Amino acid sequence: MKVAILGAGLSGLSAAFILEKYGINPIIFEKRNQVGDKTPNAEIHLSILTKPINDCFEYFYYKFGIELKPLNKIKKHTFVSENNQTTIKGNLGCTFLKGDEPVSLENQLKRKLKSQIIYNSSPSYNELLDNFSHIVLATGESGVPAKMFGYYDSLFSLNMIGANVRGNFTKDNIIAWRDKNIFSKGYGLLTPISNTKASLMAFVPDYLENDPRTILEMFYYKVCNTLGQSIEIEEKFDEIRELTNLSPFSKVDNTYLVGNCLGTTLPIPGFDIFKAILTGAFSAYDIANKADYEKSLQPLRKKVINLNNMKKTMENIRDDQFDMLVSALKLAPVRSIFHTKKDILSIAGQLMD
Ligand SMILES: Cc1cc2nc3c(=O)[nH]c(=O)nc-3n(C[C@H](O)[C@H](O)[C@H](O)COP(=O)(O)OP(=O)(O)OC[C@H]3O[C@@H](n4cnc5c(N)ncnc54)[C@H](O)[C@@H]3O)c2cc1C
Repeated sequence: MKVAILGAGLSGLSAAFILEKYGINPIIFEKRNQVGDKTPNAEIHLSILTKPINDCFEYFYYKFGIELKPLNKIKKHTFVSENNQTTIKGNLGCTFLKGDEPVSLENQLKRKLKSQIIYNSSPSYNELLDNFSHIVLATGESGVPAKMFGYYDSLFSLNMIGANVRGNFTKDNIIAWRDKNIFSKGYGLLTPISNTKASLMAFVPDYLENDPRTILEMFYYKVCNTLGQSIEIEEKFDEIRELTNLSPFSKVDNTYLVGNCLGTTLPIPGFDIFKAILTGAFSAYDIANKADYEKSLQPLRKKVINLNNMKKTMENIRDDQFDMLVSALKLAPVRSIFHTKKDILSIAGQLMD
């Protein structure tokens, strides 16, 4: 068996980790000169998105033996709407680093692998078909396989515009903004790396009415205003990914779609490392003949569909309605959705179908 993994992001590296457990050493091709995301930013895992799994890092360890260390626990999540602000407290998730940093999740995973990673290399699909018995497509963009395999009715662009900034922050407190004047249908996020450094990100699906620099500038002033301080921008980044909704199939012959290639990223919230690692690992179990990939994906498919329904509702919500929602978060029964083990978002998504 000869396995090629195209893309050394979280999904590709997780697939390699599980394959190695079964004595299969894949060859990993990475088009850049390092593993993982080109944006060196802090990202978040929110427990509410993976319920009933509360701590996804603990889950990766117990389910797959993948030990990864997050950066900080999230103890406070502040929501800012046009005229309101509420902070939820509790064990809400964690932050982690992506990109080139030694402690980034990709670098942590890479250090656990023996498999060869060939950098600055991007072989064509046909070349891989000629030379390998199994191919894992882990390039982080579902638009590419969607066009390749002809299911691109749901293409959309997700714009991620951001900057690493310096200022005074509370490292366990993430802050989310919703303001249609700045990012229509999207939202902004401040993720502290430490008490003096943070990543500022705007996730803007399908926007085209403002260019990224204008969005970042408007968002920057909004953040300074909310925090009552002038923060200093260190480096800016913007990235556009062509994505699709979840692909109707997870493999074509011996070619596996994993992570964002499978279409697991939702336009809102714009993540999910959880599904990237999960799908990478599940594909490897199938290659090693230990489990059926599509069967393993079934619960995840249901969840993505439910969250997508939620997303559609959230996108169409007006700013004044969002103000009311943020106010409602002050009420104990509403706040409890962050603390229950039940997967409230999926249940709500089902009801909205
Ligand atoms: C700016 C930003 C902020 C984010 N914030 C969050 C967050 O807060 N929380 C969260 O859970 N998720 C977040 N995400 C999403 C999360 O990072 C992704 O869902 C996850 O990394 C997807 O993993 P992946 O393996 O599918 O793709 P990626 O991590 O994108 O990895 C793909 C790899 O393939 C390589 N590649 C691409 N094309 C080729 C090719 N043709 N040949 C060879 N190699 C190739 C790329 O260089 C890259 O290394 C964010 C993403 C971005 C960009």
